[in-house]
Amino acid sequence: MNIFENTLRQIDKAASISKLDIAFVETMKSPEAIHKVNFNVKLDNGEVKRMEGFRVQHSSLAGPYKGGIRYSPEVDEDEVKSLATWMSLKCAVVDIPLGGGKGGVKIDTKKLSDSELERVTRNFVRSIHGLIGPEQDVPAPDMYTNPRVMAWATDEYMKLNNNTGLGAFTGKPLEFGGSKGRSTATADGATFIIEQYFKDQDIKDLKFAIQGFGNAGLVLAENISKLGGKIIAISDSSGGVYDINGLDIAKAIKTKESGKKVIDLDNYKKISNEELLELEVDALCLSALENVIHEKNANEIKAGAIFELANGPITPGADEILKQKKVEVLPDILVNAGGVTVSYFEMVQNKQNFYWSEEEVRNKLNSIMLKAYENVKETKAQYECTFREAAFINALRRLEKKWLIRSS
Ligand code: NAD
Repeated sequence: MNIFENTLRQIDKAASISKLDIAFVETMKSPEAIHKVNFNVKLDNGEVKRMEGFRVQHSSLAGPYKGGIRYSPEVDEDEVKSLATWMSLKCAVVDIPLGGGKGGVKIDTKKLSDSELERVTRNFVRSIHGLIGPEQDVPAPDMYTNPRVMAWATDEYMKLNNNTGLGAFTGKPLEFGGSKGRSTATADGATFIIEQYFKDQDIKDLKFAIQGFGNAGLVLAENISKLGGKIIAISDSSGGVYDINGLDIAKAIKTKESGKKVIDLDNYKKISNEELLELEVDALCLSALENVIHEKNANEIKAGAIFELANGPITPGADEILKQKKVEVLPDILVNAGGVTVSYFEMVQNKQNFYWSEEEVRNKLNSIMLKAYENVKETKAQYECTFREAAFINALRRLEKKWLIRSS
């Protein structure tokens, strides 16, 4: 089963539990538009390379399409369709007035120089600029894209639009219309949920393992370690390190920021990403990529709870196994919604041309995340279902109301 079929299965499951309108459910199962573009980029050695990019606009029921742009060799249409669908649901879970979209370019950023990456970004924006805009479709960073990429993208968009359209992208640098708190928003939002989930326990007694040490995973590790939680394993694409007594996260961050890999950390046992997933921890935080827990390894999971900062890291088949094993899974569309929430704040600030303090952003984010978590928990209790099913039900119900009011 491919990733998009997995997404449709998740929707069907929630729809069958909460008896949603069949025509609405069908609407949610097919994106409003799928754009595929091909464009040329001149490499530093003078060679011209053909690149493939996507922008999927899933649903505009709640507002402008919203969702990141991913640079990865694995990008394909099904992946972008799934990610766009999850964006519509994610915005609805946290109840912000945005729709869902996603984009991607099929490239390996590790093989490109900075100037090549800038040309890829500018040329991709030229290919899609008619489709996007502050009121229409607002991309943001995702895997292997960052504020610098967003600055190039916004600059190119504004050049093509008479120097207007600062709000066409979010996740921009602070010096160029970015919001305070955006770079840490995904992990901050996840941290609020983790704290609330474990509110009856002392976090100092809890053991964490974190897969992925990028924007989401690294900041989460920093937050958890500042709160006193013991992080016994971390990893990136090169592999992981483990210490039952807890890792020195400040040192790990320094190592990573100096351009090294997690496995370059001395004095810790080296483990594979697969081994990290199977550790006995209170919280397993998935912050890398999709489908890492599947039917073949789900039975080996020993975590008490799993927090999905990555999008789609658990397949539906694995979800069923984890449910039987009574492993609580706090789903992506709730846990990682902090990123899009502060992106929404960035859009609001760009529009009003008036910028908020870090504290204001943090407080607003906290109240949105906790309200969404409590709503999902209530639905979970009402239907005696999983957190994921409850989050999907809440999102779909909100969108169904908008759909019904707009349909004849
Ligand atoms: P990133 O590019 O900053 O970091 C990705 C991390 O995953 C890196 O440390 C990389 O080495 C690691 N990784 C890659 N392949 C791996 C593998 N096979 N095994 C283990 N680790 C691997 O990306 P990010 O922004 O942190 O995004 C990570 C996940 O979180 C993605 O699924 C993304 O869609 C999701 N997410 C991110 C944001 C955000 O604001 N950054 C928001 C919502 C969701």
